[in-house]
This record gives sequence, C-alpha cells and structure tokens, in this order.
Amino acid sequence: MIKLISLKKDSNIKVDPQISYFLNPDFVYIPINAKILIQQNEKVTKEEFVTADLASPISGTAIGIKTMQEENINKKCLVIANDFRELSKNKKVKKRKITLNNIMDILIKNNEEKLLKKLQNQNKFDNIIISAINDEPYIFNNIYILKENIADLLSIIDELSMLYKSNNNYLIVKNNEANIINDCLNSIGTYPNIKLTLVNDEYLLEKEEFILKKLQIINEKNLYLDVNDLDTLCNYLLGKDNSTKLITISGDAILESKVIRTKKNVLLSDIIKKYIKIIDAKYDVIFNGLMSGCIIKDVDNFVITNNINSINIMKKKTFKVVDCINCGKCIEICPKNLNPLNKHNLEKCINCGLCSYVCPCYINLKKEVKINE
Ligand code: SF4
Ligand code: SF4
Repeated sequence: MIKLISLKKDSNIKVDPQISYFLNPDFVYIPINAKILIQQNEKVTKEEFVTADLASPISGTAIGIKTMQEENINKKCLVIANDFRELSKNKKVKKRKITLNNIMDILIKNNEEKLLKKLQNQNKFDNIIISAINDEPYIFNNIYILKENIADLLSIIDELSMLYKSNNNYLIVKNNEANIINDCLNSIGTYPNIKLTLVNDEYLLEKEEFILKKLQIINEKNLYLDVNDLDTLCNYLLGKDNSTKLITISGDAILESKVIRTKKNVLLSDIIKKYIKIIDAKYDVIFNGLMSGCIIKDVDNFVITNNINSINIMKKKTFKVVDCINCGKCIEICPKNLNPLNKHNLEKCINCGLCSYVCPCYINLKKEVKINE
C-alpha cells in the first residue's frame, strides 16, 4: 500500500470566500490548432466554432491573428473583439434528457475529448467517483465548483448512477473542508445512493490511480470524474453556459488569493490588473500548481486556455543547491517506485514533484526527470 504525505502549507495564504467574475474581457485569444472557420472582420456568436476544435466564449468580431503564449509556448491565436452582447445561436438549447445517445451527441458536437474517452462505448459502471479534491497547495477550484452548483451536480450524479446502473456513487471531499461538508450534508439527504466520502488532505488523492487505491476499487469498472468535468457535462445537459471556467490565483506575493470565474481564453495579465494586488517586488508566476506546474515565461501574453486551472504568484525564493548527499529520500518518496537519480523507466513519471519536494539539497529532480516535455 502506498504511503501518501500531507504537504506543508503556509496558513497565511487565505482565499476570498466569494467567487470573483471576469466575464467581460475586451478580447479573447483562441489558439489555432485546427482549421480556421471564419474570415477577418467576420462577426461571431458566443459558442460558435471559430476553429475546427474551439468555440468563441464571447460574441464579437474576428480582428486578426496574434502570437501569444499557450502554456509557455508561442502560439498563433485568433483575436476576437468583444461586442459585449453575448449573442448566441444556442440560446434556445433546452435541458436534454439524460440518455447514452444524448450524452454522446453533446460530447461529440462540442469536441469534449476527455469526457468522450471516459464515456464512449460504456453502458455500465460498477462505481461512479466524483472528486472535489485539488491536490496542489492553495488551489480551490473543485471545492468552489461544488459550492457554486451543488444541487445540479448531485442531481446529475444521481441520474448518471441510474443510467450506468452503478452500485456505488462516491462524492470525494477533503475532511478539512468544513463549509462544503456542511453544504453537502444538507443537500445529499435526498440522494441516499450518493456516499459523501471524506479523505485526509494527502497529496495525490486528486489522481484517479491513487483515489481508486484508497477506495480499494482498482479492479472494478469505474467512472472517475472531477467536479470540473462533471460541471461541464452538467452544463451541456442542462443547456447552461460553458463559455467560462474557474481558476484560482493565489500566493504569498499577493494581498488576497481569489477564485475567479472567467471567460475562457482571456489574458492572464488582464485578470491580474483587475483583481490582484501584488505586494512583493520579486516574485514568480507559476501555472497549474507549485508541485507539478511551471514558471510562466511571459506573463503579459499568457492566455488562460481550458487547460489552465491555477496561477500561483509567489515571493521569489532562492535556495542554495548543493551536491547530492545520497540520502535516498527522493527514491523512498516516489509514488511510482522510480529512482529519479537514474533515468530508467522515467516514462512512468507522473510529474508529481515529490522527489524535488523532499530533496534536502534543493535539487530540482522533477525538471531532471520530466522527459515528456
Ligand atoms: S516527479 Fe516522477 S520521479 Fe519524481 S517523485 Fe514524482 S513520479 Fe517519482
Ligand atoms: S533526495 Fe536529493 S540528496 Fe537525497 S538522494 Fe535524492 S537527489 Fe540526492
């Protein structure tokens, strides 16, 4: 049985209990990964596909192409100027009946590859596991999504459990999330088939592999979704807006950490300007987590695409890196039983960052071992 650890956290980093909203950006930037479907100066409506794989989160006008940063990589993006009218051809989309065919139809139409991979060709699951956990320190997205939308999410879990004839339905929450546990307990009574399952605040339980081990259901047919995936599915099925996403911006170099509901594909610098007060002159900006994320190279041009869940703005820390003392801690901690010091089997590395986290010599082993970049 794998031993998981709790990460040390700075108790001074507190998050605003209210969600902030960034829903009226002047421009959005759609990365061009596939064929462009519109012309320069053409009007677009909200949720209209502007490239073969991505829809616009706003209505407005396509004004050109600009090179921006998508996850630290230069990427040509289609720039759409907002007309602030939120015009949509999908306005009349109504709640869809939850059937296997409707789910597939919606996911295919909306290019939801991650959800499709999990649900395609499945008509029965033994267990449905919905996770409201965020592993990374100071990231709160999943718990805020649950808070925002608990009634609809519980109702969808219930409907999925009937559709897939699952025996067990777990809603997983960390046991230190007192507020949301109360909300869950207040709402879950009408769903006796959903088990609110509380787990310790241990790193890696957000990952499917580790939570299934914890629940001891590894050899069964499981549907694992985090609440963000479930919320996306829920929005499609209920005919609600999917043009926004939740991100957390937190850290010790800012006055107050915030969870922000933002339009997709906006500029990070526009959100920072509006909501974040930086209080330290020297800082690093990191995307997708302190343990497994990366320092942003060009904050001004960084786009909040669908894959960006968090931004940490942390005081710059300098550690004196010294030579390895062969203590073995990095090998002992590795959840995949790898030896980060030699390069064998590193394709199994899950980029969890624990080897770097425990190294007393501050050697950045994660960077060393990350071979998939
Ligand atoms: S980053 Fe890779 S090598 Fe390091 S502890 Fe995690 S899985 Fe092991
Ligand atoms: S944890 Fe650091 S010092 Fe210890 S063996 Fe690994 S690399 Fe060397």
